[in-house]
Amino acid sequence: MKKAARSRNRTTGLKVGVLGAGQLGRMMALEGIPLGMQFAFYDTSGAPSAGLGKIYSDPDNSLAPLSDFINDVDVVTYEFEHLPLDLANQVAATKPLYPGVKALRICQNRVLEKQTFESLNIPTAPFRVIDSQTDLEQAVEALGLPCVLKSTTEGYDGKGQAVLRDAADIADVWRTLGERQLIAEAFIPFQRELSIIAVRAEDGTTATYPLMENIHCEGILRYTIAPAPDCSSETFVRASDYAERLLNHLDYVGVLALELFEVNGSLMANEMAPRVHNSGHWTQNGAHTSQFENHLRAVSGLPLGDTGAIGVSCMVNLIGQEADTAAVLTLTDTHLHLYGKSERPGRKVGHINIVASDYAELMKKLKLCLPHVPDHPAFSSSLISLP
Ligand code: AMP
Repeated sequence: MKKAARSRNRTTGLKVGVLGAGQLGRMMALEGIPLGMQFAFYDTSGAPSAGLGKIYSDPDNSLAPLSDFINDVDVVTYEFEHLPLDLANQVAATKPLYPGVKALRICQNRVLEKQTFESLNIPTAPFRVIDSQTDLEQAVEALGLPCVLKSTTEGYDGKGQAVLRDAADIADVWRTLGERQLIAEAFIPFQRELSIIAVRAEDGTTATYPLMENIHCEGILRYTIAPAPDCSSETFVRASDYAERLLNHLDYVGVLALELFEVNGSLMANEMAPRVHNSGHWTQNGAHTSQFENHLRAVSGLPLGDTGAIGVSCMVNLIGQEADTAAVLTLTDTHLHLYGKSERPGRKVGHINIVASDYAELMKKLKLCLPHVPDHPAFSSSLISLP
């Protein structure tokens, strides 16, 4: 259903519906409520944590509460891209859904995603689609070893993935992963992982946040440093250009995150997420307008806000357990964000945003915070390169 662009002067009483009711929906609501917005959530996980509006709970995925949810809201967005497309189409037939179904469909499928990067001349790892052991054997010949195998759909945070290092393991790997379609990617010997968050309004205006450096541990994002240290303005301009090509191609409305590998000064797109993103959480305290507010501005027809950084920031994810609250709160410009979730190994339960005027001060504050959060060796090596 094609809807006319709605430009708005005010948002009082506007009800935003969020598909998903986890921490991303919660953080959106925390930014939208001061703008006069109201929120409702539709959740099939059975463990909603947003708590800032009515939750239409649907643990059996019966879709019965979906129409009540749709009727209750003015505009719909989502915090999770692995939504059934039928559900997204059902929503979009009645209410504006941002980002739209096209972006969702492409971001749900690594093959479509890679083809989109290639069609827009955005460099990405060479890849092959794998439907059989023979395909995998041919892919190994074409791409070389090691190569990275990923499920075409539903994989994230390294789930459903394997690095194939030895051709003798092809049959074993195919037996383990091959009950669904895979893609094989050439292994990229990147120096670091970066991401960029961009936003596009209904009228086509775009804005990008500074590039960020991401440090993972066991496949889960652990730290984001923003702006990424040691990044030339050319690299930033290139990353923004890639993100803008995607936004315009997808006729996108809202926030988009693009994950990149930095390889010998060049950038290669790894994947994108059509939503607010964990690597953008620092913007809550370290940017003039947070990613959450800008996403809501975009989906509700308001002008975008300034995406500039206030200083330098580090976001530390709290994984499995919360931090020593008192210790964090004693530091200036250090902010604790907890999601109201119970502690469980591997679960994101909150994050800390640390803002400083320069990297040296950021490093000092991090060292005061770090004893209370799980450590990661890559982090200290990354910090060595801080100016
Ligand atoms: P993804 O689910 O695509 O984000 O992949 C999870 C992680 O695997 C990334 O954050 C990278 O650290 C690593 N990875 C993914 N693709 C490649 C690749 N083609 N070459 C090297 N490492 C990769």
